[in-house]
Amino acid sequence: LEARLAQKGGPHLRVEKLSKSFGDTRAVDAVELSIAKGEFVTLLGDSGCGKTTLLRMIAGFTSPDTGRIWRQDADVTHMPPADRRMGFVFQSYALFPTKTAAQNIAFAPRMAGKRRAEVAQRVEQLATLVEIDRLLDRYPHELSGGQQQRVALARALAAEPEILLLDEPMSALDARIRAKLRSELRGLVDRLGMTALYVTHDQEEALALSDRVAVMRAGRIEQVGTPGEIYHRPRSRFVAEFIGTSNLMTGTVETGGLRINDLLWPVSVDGAKIGDLVTVLVRPEHLAIEPGGQSGSIAGTVVSATFLGPTRRLTIRCDDGLHILVEEHRRPPPETGPGTVGFMCAPIMPMSC
Ligand code: ATP
Repeated sequence: LEARLAQKGGPHLRVEKLSKSFGDTRAVDAVELSIAKGEFVTLLGDSGCGKTTLLRMIAGFTSPDTGRIWRQDADVTHMPPADRRMGFVFQSYALFPTKTAAQNIAFAPRMAGKRRAEVAQRVEQLATLVEIDRLLDRYPHELSGGQQQRVALARALAAEPEILLLDEPMSALDARIRAKLRSELRGLVDRLGMTALYVTHDQEEALALSDRVAVMRAGRIEQVGTPGEIYHRPRSRFVAEFIGTSNLMTGTVETGGLRINDLLWPVSVDGAKIGDLVTVLVRPEHLAIEPGGQSGSIAGTVVSATFLGPTRRLTIRCDDGLHILVEEHRRPPPETGPGTVGFMCAPIMPMSC
């Protein structure tokens, strides 16, 4: 990121020690965040962790108790929302009720004085993108929640803001259109050179969309990193458990492996010394079933299997009673029930918890 920031002349959006409380609730607690020009960053966290409050402060709809917000070199902390050159799509889509979908989308470019033909073409393109081209003459009350959300997204994109702020803009859409729109949104934001800050509680969406993900917990940013960093190198147990499926195991490093309960796992632990007590994160896909139970593998019994389409997630009870999740790609997968399977795992990484 530092290289990108230097190359692009500093952050496009910067939040400095931003805090907001509602009564006794510290909704946002001294948050620091820098976003480079053209970067797509996601705020990810459970309901109530402060994502919306942080976004509303950046947009200018909620005033912070302390801290500053910068758009490049401009301090916009107390600037009215309309002057911030930021576009917003919020969960409550708040379209103009007396305007049709087309008029809603056309609003910002018309206000900006764009030519009628240019505006019409833009409306058409965006409506096709979000699949509402047949609904352009309808008023908001004649549209479903998901359709209104798509109009709201098109309306925000039509304004071509420098910075796009999106708060769960796809929450009312079904999975198929969500996945499609997700990649198209990302492509469009890139093509238009916009900087985007996107709020979601959906980890899959965050990992798929973002250059970087900021994982929030109780008003604070717990970790910021690329999707790969967040997934493979979570800095805390909270992040590891929040993102993806994990096996978190604590054991002592010995010659030849890691002793967890009574079993010696034949793995090397990066950066650990003999005798260290470490907690390691093992993703289910880093474990592989060895049907014959080769030497050097761990033995266990498959107690349940969940069908996930391309893979199956197996719960295996190791001989020492430890339950572990394994994602199995092989066909046919091992049978559930009595019997023993061996499994092996890739080198694992210790984590601070
Ligand atoms: P969600 O995913 O459910 O939208 P969130 O992460 O966006 O949640 P916020 O809406 O920012 O969370 O809320 C953070 C905390 O601040 C919550 O405890 C919430 O109840 C509280 N809060 C937010 N807005 C207000 C308000 N206007 N008055 C009082 N408390 C508020």
